Amino acid sequence: MENCLFCMIVAGKIPGDTLYEDERVLAFRDISPQAPQHVLIVPKKHLEGLNDLGQAEDALLGALLRAASQVARLTGIDGSGYRLVSNCGPHACQSVHHLHFHVLGGQQMSGQMV
Ligand code: AMP
Repeated sequence: MENCLFCMIVAGKIPGDTLYEDERVLAFRDISPQAPQHVLIVPKKHLEGLNDLGQAEDALLGALLRAASQVARLTGIDGSGYRLVSNCGPHACQSVHHLHFHVLGGQQMSGQMV
């Protein structure tokens, strides 16, 4: 989608620090990390966010979640643990309107949120 930041990263028009890629999914490091390991998992197909997921996206959702666990292994946080977050809408402070999951790890997290 034109003017979508993550579509531009998927298309290679803006550089991304890619960690993992397959035919449906791209994973790259967050530009402003909030944890020692902070990676974004995005579908190559443009979807605004979680509210856009229909039955037709079931396989894609499986691929996104599998990519998250793959990224956890690649970054060495699969054993220590990690958090998977997807902000949806204004109350969640979603700032990029292309579905994405944050993989956060590499430090002990608080039990707040969540
Ligand atoms: P959210 O606030 O959940 O929509 O998350 C958007 C994330 O995208 C934020 O954590 C940003 O730091 C991250 N971000 C913004 N621009 C870039 C970029 N060019 N490359 C990588 N991550 C980015």
